[in-house]
Amino acid sequence: MRLPISLLLLAALPFAQAAKPDSTLFGKKAGETEKVVVTQAIEGDKAPADKMAPAGGKPVMEKEGDAPKEAMKPKMEMAEEAKPAIKPKMTEEAEAPKKPMAETDSKKSEAKKSDAEMKKDEADKVKEEEEPTITPFRPAKTLAAKEKRVFKFSNLNKPLAFETTRELQRLFALLTTQYVADGKTFAKAPGPVTAISYIILQDLGEQRYVAKASWPTVGEALPAGTDAWAILLLDEEVKVGATGRMTGTHAGTVALDFTAKFSPIDGKTLTIRREAFVECKPIEESNANLTKFIEQVAQGGEFSVTTTERVGCKVCNSLGYTREPQKGKLEDKRVPCTNCDSTGKLSTTTETKFAP
Ligand SMILES: [Zn+2]
Repeated sequence: MRLPISLLLLAALPFAQAAKPDSTLFGKKAGETEKVVVTQAIEGDKAPADKMAPAGGKPVMEKEGDAPKEAMKPKMEMAEEAKPAIKPKMTEEAEAPKKPMAETDSKKSEAKKSDAEMKKDEADKVKEEEEPTITPFRPAKTLAAKEKRVFKFSNLNKPLAFETTRELQRLFALLTTQYVADGKTFAKAPGPVTAISYIILQDLGEQRYVAKASWPTVGEALPAGTDAWAILLLDEEVKVGATGRMTGTHAGTVALDFTAKFSPIDGKTLTIRREAFVECKPIEESNANLTKFIEQVAQGGEFSVTTTERVGCKVCNSLGYTREPQKGKLEDKRVPCTNCDSTGKLSTTTETKFAP
């Protein structure tokens, strides 16, 4: 069974609506369509966030009203640093006799908590242990395009045009990592689309699983994972221990609060932050689909693919060096170009839109 695209979007969008529990990945309530309001990226817990995210990402908004994207690199390896999510116990302070003056204000106020409040805390804790919760931590990364261009099918294979059959095939192959099949059309995926192999470690309910998963890198948007813990939302229910393969769209990094039922953390109630993937129907790279794609563009369908392109360095005119006249010598001195590391070319992210 294939997931409707609306569910895919719902799974990734709660980065803009962190508290909203209605998306499938975060606990499901089917049938409700949501108007998406883009707010700002979620900072998340500070300490681990700092560790896993090299700074310098610029938030970018997509026109569809997608969640804001941060150019941050989620690190798969943070997997192993799971931290316990156990609430501090208040009982001791509450019952303890008068503490010395040096006691902090926060401790005092905690100590003043009423019995009712404490009972509520305990109840919350029990609830947490019973039911796993998944909350968004970091949105899926998409590339921020510095350059824009239009691939016009009317220019295809004309002299000097970049619109060649070969370029079209290359771009279409990349498009299949950024779009998913959605009924008769193709729909933009909330995150990079990749093939995932997995073994199920724990069932979280509602077809959500903790799995050990591997996936290849997807351009600069998603680093590869090898035997990494991941959260998967599958189309069908599977058993713990089952192995399988699926095509998933990256839904970002999520925080999972749960009681683990697999080694080496069996029985521990904790929070782990992992990559999450939502199963989706891929666009196969076939001539039939390429034809379908061209037809959809001809009918006014809007598609664009963001890629990393090598372009000529403007500082050195693609030569890799600049010339400097030398006194008393006929030949200029060649100065290596620092702008492009003497390669004559630069990498730049380019959004290519398609037009008839
Ligand atoms: Zn240069």
